[in-house]
Amino acid sequence: MIAILRKSASDEAVGHLISWIEGKGLITHVSRGENEIVIGLVGDTTKIDPFLLESMDIVERVQRVSEPFKKANRKFHPEDTAVDCGHGVKIGAGHFQVIAGPCSVEGENLIRIARRVHAAGATMLRGGAFKPRTSPYAYQGMGADGLDLLLEASAELDMPVVTEVMDPRDVQLFVDKGIDVMQIGARNAQNFPLLKEVGKTNVPVLLKRGMSGTIDELLMAAEYIMSEGNGNVILCERGIRTFETRTRNTFDLNAVPVLHYLSHLPVVADPSHATGYTRYVEPMALAACAAGADGLEIEVHDCPEKAWSDGAQALTPDQFDRTMERIRAIRSVIAADHE
Ligand code: PEP
Ligand code: MN
Repeated sequence: MIAILRKSASDEAVGHLISWIEGKGLITHVSRGENEIVIGLVGDTTKIDPFLLESMDIVERVQRVSEPFKKANRKFHPEDTAVDCGHGVKIGAGHFQVIAGPCSVEGENLIRIARRVHAAGATMLRGGAFKPRTSPYAYQGMGADGLDLLLEASAELDMPVVTEVMDPRDVQLFVDKGIDVMQIGARNAQNFPLLKEVGKTNVPVLLKRGMSGTIDELLMAAEYIMSEGNGNVILCERGIRTFETRTRNTFDLNAVPVLHYLSHLPVVADPSHATGYTRYVEPMALAACAAGADGLEIEVHDCPEKAWSDGAQALTPDQFDRTMERIRAIRSVIAADHE
């Protein structure tokens, strides 16, 4: 971290600042230029609040030199990480997967949808049993019974399941039942007790970006999970809130290469929640593939008009068949490019 001081700072004030910094166990390097005084802070800079430092009268600007995320950072882990999701399915480091299924687990239609997405080439099954809904009167999900339906489908088709956990008190239930991948939804991207709780397990976590979350906030959320010991984190771009109203969210595809640049963790993109409309899901799925996503999460429903949640963005199984074909076409170009 570097603090740039005002030219007018008195020697006494600079001395005070240096002893305050050194009192926190850091080493300081001071250089006095003609127009400014620069203090380099070396050591554990997590002990310093950069905003507090910048608020001091003699400080003009503070710049971070290293990112506050360490475990998720590519600098300390240059190789891509592949996360093992069970059933022989890995994601990241060249392994590409498609996660598909309904928004909510609703009942026996789950297995029908699961068979179709599996036949189309999806390698992981999704479905929410615990649903984060804006209205408390909207469908809240089947709960534990929904997890059982997912697990039955997973056993029949030999594919891992991805399902959202919302409450730290439910994490143990997910572990006991053998859920393959726990999803942390956008609304919980900064639910720190939940992030810590899933961090205490070794179950892979699909971590979605918060609706108004920056890329750095997503990486710090990953850091919460990893700092508890769980390194099996998959990042997910699912669209952010902007001024645009023609789509449910704005798909920040920049995040895909940016996250790959900053982090070694796998990056999944979710064109369903990012666009909110069936008609836009396929083109944006293809764009995410082309941008280098390690996987896609796509909502599929056999009867979208009757879906209990997110019907407007669901692909039918027939539409999903076609989308998978086109995903394979884009992937083959990318794979050839890497040879
Ligand atoms: C979902 O996957 O159904 C979901 C609720 O996603 P998000 O948290 O991205 O809104
Ligand atoms: Mn959904």
